Amino acid sequence: MISAARLVFLGPPGSGKGTQSRRMQELFGIPALSSGDTLRGEVARGSDVGRRARRYMESGGLVPDEVITQVMMAGIDALPSGSGFILDGFPRTAPQADALSSGLVGGRGELNAVIDFLLDDAEIVRRIVPRRVCEKCGQMYNVEFLPPRVADVCDRCGGKLIRRPDDREDVVRTRIATYRAQTAPLIAYYEQRGLLRKVSAAAGAGTVESAVSEIIQSIGTQG
Ligand code: AMP
Repeated sequence: MISAARLVFLGPPGSGKGTQSRRMQELFGIPALSSGDTLRGEVARGSDVGRRARRYMESGGLVPDEVITQVMMAGIDALPSGSGFILDGFPRTAPQADALSSGLVGGRGELNAVIDFLLDDAEIVRRIVPRRVCEKCGQMYNVEFLPPRVADVCDRCGGKLIRRPDDREDVVRTRIATYRAQTAPLIAYYEQRGLLRKVSAAAGAGTVESAVSEIIQSIGTQG
């Protein structure tokens, strides 16, 4: 069953992992868990995790492995039994990938595939800096390429559009450097395990969606 697929979406900021994971949840019923959204929720609630995570997020660095691993493994454990998942933004370091793999053993089963979204640095900056997000439903907009019908208002739910504080150009450049140094090594990690599938994220959202859907369907048919 496709809804039981266990997937990781890997790729730099702005590569469309979040958009595609929400889309795949709608299309195939695979629950999407976003580490960034989860952490932003913790910061907004003012929880212990949120207080620990905030300064790393604001600077474009990574939250400590043990903090994010605990939060994400709890998110996976809370899913109904037999359910698959799409992890968007987790793991982001080798220790996180090891913790995920050992956490899955004996429980839900190992990952079926890791989809790597490929995008170059100039395009990342071009996409993220004009980005806006609905504070209510998470829908993304881009004031240059995909503006809302009414300025600062979400087309879908009427919520207010905001700019993430870490979408400023200087922070985006730090986030890219963090990705290349700490997360990109996971590409080889998953390639060695035979799980890696690559998708060009430079095309429009519809084209990327078809490529990702095809990969997920091919996993589904492998049982
Ligand atoms: P994102 O929305 O995925 O770009 O994540 C926003 C920020 O949350 C990142 O810049 C990190 O500071 C933090 N974060 C998200 N996921 C992780 C992770 N797996 N490990 C460490 N920090 C993370």
